[in-house]
Formats: sequence, C-alpha cells, structure tokens
Amino acid sequence: MIRFDDRVAIVTGAGGGLGRSHALALAGLGAKVVVNDLGGARDGTGHSDAAMQVVEEITAAGGEAMADGGSVTEFEQMQAMVARTKERWGRVDILINNAGILRDKSFVKMDMTDFDSVLQVHLTGSANCTKAVWETMREQQYGRILMTSSASGLFGNFGQANYAAAKLGILGLAKTLTLEGTKYGIRVNTLAPVAGTRMTEDILPPESFQAFAPETVSPAALFLVSEDAPSNAIVSAGAGVFQTAQVTLTPGIRLTGDALSPDGVAEHWQAISNRSGEIVPQSVNDQIMLIAGKLQG
Ligand code: NAD
Repeated sequence: MIRFDDRVAIVTGAGGGLGRSHALALAGLGAKVVVNDLGGARDGTGHSDAAMQVVEEITAAGGEAMADGGSVTEFEQMQAMVARTKERWGRVDILINNAGILRDKSFVKMDMTDFDSVLQVHLTGSANCTKAVWETMREQQYGRILMTSSASGLFGNFGQANYAAAKLGILGLAKTLTLEGTKYGIRVNTLAPVAGTRMTEDILPPESFQAFAPETVSPAALFLVSEDAPSNAIVSAGAGVFQTAQVTLTPGIRLTGDALSPDGVAEHWQAISNRSGEIVPQSVNDQIMLIAGKLQG
C-alpha cells in the first residue's frame, strides 16, 4: 500500500486545480505538505490566499500542511520556502512542479512578453524549485521529483507555441536530472495531465468536467513520487485513463558516397523514417552507440 508517512512534500501551484488535488491526496496518505501558490489568475496576474485555503482544507481533514505564497519564478523565494520546510520538518522528500499559467495566442499574434512569461513560470519555475531542493535530496540520498508537462509540449497544440515550448523543455530537464539524480536516490518523472480545471474551462466541454476531475489524475502523480516509483517515465493521465509516452529513435541508415547529399536523404527518406526496430534512448549515449554500430557494420 502506498503511504507517505514521515515524508515531506512540496507541491507548487497547489492553491487550486491539479496541485490542490495532489496536495490533498498526499496529505490524506500521511505526507506533510507545503502548499505553494501565489494565487494569481490563469494568466499569472494578481495574488490571493489560495494556498492558505488548501492548507485549511488539509488541516480540517486531520492532515499537516503549511502555506507558501512565493512565486516559482523567484529562485530566492523558492530557496526560502525550502529553508522554512526544513526548519519545520527537517527534510524534503518530494517535489511536484505543477505551477503554471496560460497566455494562448497563435504565434503570429503572440508578443514575446507572453512567450517569456510562460517559459518563466513553467520551465524556469520548475528548474528554480528543483535547484532549491536538489542539494537536500542528494544529501538525504532520497528524492522524488515530478515535473508537469502537457500533451501540448509532447505533441503540439495550435495557439500554444509558448506553452508547448516550455512543456517540452521541462521534459528535457527531467530526462537529464534523471541521469544526474540516479546515484543519489533521486527519481524524476513527468506527468502529462488532462483535467477539468480553470485552465481547460474553455477547451473541455462543461459536461465532461466531472469525468476529467483532477482527482482522476492524482493517483498517477502519487505513484510517480512514491517509494517504488519508476524513473524517467512520461505518464499521461486524464479521466482515469493512464498511458505512457516515449521519445523514440528509428534505426535509420548510413549514407555514403553520392548518396550523402540532399537528394540521397530524399531518396532514402522511407528507410530513414521507418519505425521498425526503433528504440527509446535512455540518454545521448544510446544514440551514439547506434551510430557507432552503423559505422562498424
Ligand atoms: P490551475 O490554473 O488551476 O493551476 C495552476 C496553479 O499554479 C494556480 O493555482 C496558480 O495560481 C499557480 N501559479 C501560477 N503561477 C505561479 C507562480 N509563479 N508561482 C506559484 N504558483 C503559481 O491549472 P491546472 O490545470 O491545475 O494546472 C496545473 C498544471 O498542470 C500546470 O502546470 C498545467 O500547465 C498542467 N497541465 C494541465 C492540464 C489540464 O488539462 N488542466 C493539461 C496539461 C498540463
């Protein structure tokens, strides 16, 4: 049975939506939870006491939690949050990077301020929080980090160039930190949720909101930060449907002589993109080995 007794978790953007659901679920299974949220609007503007309200829900249900109103975009604020967490509970076992904003527009209409703000919250925000806990988790020889990506980043979505760029950037961050964290007992996974929240209120039909409740996603989040979590997984979760996604590489072919030309690539495109025998590289080394094999063969 998955439990989080004696574990300390930080969930960013936990004042509402998915983060709130993850925080309540973690606390319900025994974790001490830091509920971080600056409580802004969907586009990131403004402030509220959203984090405190979730803390009150957790404590009313008999759990332990503390609120943090810092912004994930401010590294010093995230360092201060981690320091306060350690002061109160002595450690940080789990970090769920969940905070996010939206500034959707087609690329032609998007100004670069909207591009940068979205990258700041999702990508730099995830790096800030992770950096703030990294040394602690290394010293503890234990850490579980969950990044929140999106189908937009993995597959693309019209009108979300900023958001998609940030969300795939998060995956690159997760994959590299998986490699750097393994020997210190740190596991890093990535969630691509689909949920009925204020973020999707004009995307998902209102009648499907109940089926897509955040509570149908949180079981995957909790598994991915549990003791026996895998590492380097990309899990899509929505409406109780759980899937994994992979970044794959086709075996490809080696072109030499006259074929080593734009025309040669065009001529061999089918073989280059043929997916039979494709692999899921676990690091850059796997690709280099594949290329080396072709040089020998
Ligand atoms: P939401 O708007 O309810 O939650 C996001 C929370 O992040 C808000 O409470 C907000 O105040 C907080 N936040 C924003 N900027 C912050 C900052 N700088 N510092 C601290 N907190 C900040 O939306 P949600 O749907 O629950 O989204 C949660 C995460 O899931 C986001 O990363 C989102 O991109 C991702 N996601 C959601 C869906 C979906 O279908 N809802 C799909 C893919 C990805």
